[in-house]
Amino acid sequence: MAVATTHSASEEFRVRARSWLQAHAPQDWRERLASATDRQVADFYIEWALQLHGAGLLVPHWPQEFGGGGYGIQEQLVVQQEMRKVGAPRPRTLQISLNHAAATLMRHGTPTQKNLVGGILEGDVWCQGFSEPDAGSDLASLRTLAARHGETYVVNGQKIWSSFAAHAQWCLLLARTDPTAPKHAGISFFLMRMDSPGVTVRPIRQSTGHREFCEIFLDDVVIPVEFRLGAEGDGWRLARTTLVSERVLPMLDEAEDLRAAVRTVAMQIAEADHLRGHARDGLVDRLTEVAIGTDVLAASSEKAVAEYVETGALGATAPILKLYHSELVQRLTGIAAEVGGVYALIDPGDEVRDLGYLSGDWFTDHMRSWTFTIAAGTSEIQRNLIAERVLGLPR
Ligand SMILES: Cc1cc2nc3c(=O)[nH]c(=O)nc-3n(C[C@H](O)[C@H](O)[C@H](O)COP(=O)(O)OP(=O)(O)OC[C@H]3O[C@@H](n4cnc5c(N)ncnc54)[C@H](O)[C@@H]3O)c2cc1C
Repeated sequence: MAVATTHSASEEFRVRARSWLQAHAPQDWRERLASATDRQVADFYIEWALQLHGAGLLVPHWPQEFGGGGYGIQEQLVVQQEMRKVGAPRPRTLQISLNHAAATLMRHGTPTQKNLVGGILEGDVWCQGFSEPDAGSDLASLRTLAARHGETYVVNGQKIWSSFAAHAQWCLLLARTDPTAPKHAGISFFLMRMDSPGVTVRPIRQSTGHREFCEIFLDDVVIPVEFRLGAEGDGWRLARTTLVSERVLPMLDEAEDLRAAVRTVAMQIAEADHLRGHARDGLVDRLTEVAIGTDVLAASSEKAVAEYVETGALGATAPILKLYHSELVQRLTGIAAEVGGVYALIDPGDEVRDLGYLSGDWFTDHMRSWTFTIAAGTSEIQRNLIAERVLGLPR
């Protein structure tokens, strides 16, 4: 997404964001959602996003023509910082809508397709139908077929791991339009309505109990040509916008979440009567390493923000930050689960709500931390990228 730099982050914006959030951020949302259904949790996040938008705090960094504030990325980061201070929820269900879908539509959409961005600000949930059972890291080997019939495509195949698909109105879909072309060249990018006949969504229950992602089955699904994004066969190039934007903004801000969690775990170690001698010292040593790592991440993120504001790209920094952050989350949640001792092992059962990845239910958080080393490109793939693109090593 091009970064708008019409205004610089101002103290006045921060003050306005802070006072609105202090007055309006829900305080007891974790308790309220504890007994809610998945649908109610999704509705809660969407409703909260709409309130933020009404106050000009959902997408201050979007261009004004798309309903944003016309500010820069700094203002978005200011909102995230102020939200953290008051313990406000992040509108998780709209994560793909607000990041990948918006960036892709704004940059590559036709005027009709660009209009769909407006729907996001009214609560449209988008999911991403890229991965397939046999196409994850090697995404270009995907096999879902889109066959052209006049002014429509008929799509058949299966997608998997699609986050938020159970609540989605729209899907960013990659499908093969030319099975005879080299694998990267035969892929096209579609915008698919999730209520189209032939779309079946089946949520997958994760080991944590969450049902964040889903399988999507596509049986003779008809997509009008006007909902193909870009030219036929250009899907792979366009998908890169989606993939690059996938974690840029959230990632730049995550060091602060980790810092807050390190402080919480430090308090818990101090208060844990069952920890003695070497056990306590060992945990303190390991937490200290994570705390230092978090400072390194924060400093590197700050540098990356400056680079992003200047160039609109993260370049070589992205895989390094992603790898470093995801491994810190794993180490921190692992330490926190150990501090909890046997109590951390109590199975919260089926009623696990999506309350974020540092929810304080440390054992669940620790299991969930593995999603960071897989989603949006596994750690091994990040290491390959660092080796080849940053260090210049041979493939
Ligand atoms: C929480 C979560 C949310 C997700 N959300 C979405 C979504 O919304 N939409 C979507 O389309 N997908 C989504 N995904 C899927 C995600 O993009 C894939 O899981 C990921 O790309 C890895 O693909 P895979 O699972 O098929 O594993 P594979 O690619 O089969 O990899 C298996 C193992 O082999 C390793 N490996 C593979 N290739 C190489 C290589 N070249 N060099 C070294 N090691 C290699 C991997 O690192 C991994 O350890 C999500 C995944 C998670 C965990």
